[in-house]
Amino acid sequence: MSNTDPAPEAVTLRAGVVDAVDVLEARKAAIGDGTEVRRLLPQRVLRTIGAWCFLDHYGPDDTSGGPGMQVPPHPHIGLQTVTWLFDGLVLHRDSLGSKQLITPGELNLMTSGRGIAHSEESPASPARPALLHGVQLWIALPREHQFAEPAFAHHADLPVLRSGDARVTVVVGEHAGERSPATVFSPLAGLEVTLPDGGSVTLPAADGFEYGVIAADGPAEVGCPAVAGAPARIEPGMLAHLPAGVPSVTVSAAGPRRLFVVGGVPLGEPLVMWWNFVARTAAEITAARDAWIAGAFGEVRGYAGNPLAAPPLPPGGLKPR
Ligand code: MN
Repeated sequence: MSNTDPAPEAVTLRAGVVDAVDVLEARKAAIGDGTEVRRLLPQRVLRTIGAWCFLDHYGPDDTSGGPGMQVPPHPHIGLQTVTWLFDGLVLHRDSLGSKQLITPGELNLMTSGRGIAHSEESPASPARPALLHGVQLWIALPREHQFAEPAFAHHADLPVLRSGDARVTVVVGEHAGERSPATVFSPLAGLEVTLPDGGSVTLPAADGFEYGVIAADGPAEVGCPAVAGAPARIEPGMLAHLPAGVPSVTVSAAGPRRLFVVGGVPLGEPLVMWWNFVARTAAEITAARDAWIAGAFGEVRGYAGNPLAAPPLPPGGLKPR
């Protein structure tokens, strides 16, 4: 996924100073192919949850009448991308030569480190199911791994366990003694939580973690899921944020629901994000933009279309807000 804001501003990524459980509404954003996404991170009042610094929720969309997701080749530095589907089929290609289909229950984890380019597309119909629904997340890399070698991993066999009334898939990190095989570089959790028949589940919090909970879907007539302590129920397009120090995350629903939970230790340093780059300084971002324009990220082979052009730098320079 790419940030395709034609005139992106630089944003400072930093830990929030909130001390109460809250519910935030997503901003609507376009990702360039007509798809509208719900951008849950970063927001003005909450930039990050642990090192999770970007969270888009899209769909469910019926793609049978169009091309579906078409995100042309674009670059990343300083972050990992997490692709997670609730429904559908997406093809990933990158400048390392990776070509990987992903289906629900599987994880695509791309580590950009010093630089990688990738594309994401819905395969041609009729090979793909009509519905497309998922989340795209970015994880900021800590300073010592900021310029790591780029890498791509596909994990089709993640731990799934029963917890309360829920089925929990450990996408990133650890839950109840089960650990995801995904390599991450700071203390993090990423969990798909399904309540197949409603009910409730209490997830013990890891030491010093803050958490975010989003509602993926569920029959409207059932009512939206509730996060214990939150001032409102969460529907798709909303994020419940639980600050660091909470003892647990309890979610309940009257009927079948799918949720996604992210957690981590709040960021210890401010970072700069602009377009698809996470860095420590404006100079690092400008250098990455120049490198993309110069073709230095390598070629994404096989995508039937042109790469994304780098947007112009803000007129006043990269002064993060
Ligand atoms: Mn991307």
